Amino acid sequence: MEKEEIYRKLLTKFGTSNQILKLAEECAELAQAAIKLAVGPANTGAVSFVREMVDVEIMLEQIKQLLDDPVFVKFHADRKEEVLKYLEKLLEV
Ligand SMILES: [Mg+2]
Repeated sequence: MEKEEIYRKLLTKFGTSNQILKLAEECAELAQAAIKLAVGPANTGAVSFVREMVDVEIMLEQIKQLLDDPVFVKFHADRKEEVLKYLEKLLEV
């Protein structure tokens, strides 16, 4: 089964609101893992961080399917470009 089909079926089975809440939950878990990776003992936390990163990526991909509309796709691309330009400017200072 292709991942797009899996995502579609998950959204149908569990509902959009639940899947958006699941995204929030996974983001919180990633935040916690990121903090542990940054400030925890050296050489620890990488496995947990990668695990949570994958969870968030999968939930984001799933939710992005809901926004598969040309207006949102353009807004997403424009916003990404805007943020990257901002970050590039930060490097100039
Ligand atoms: Mg998780």
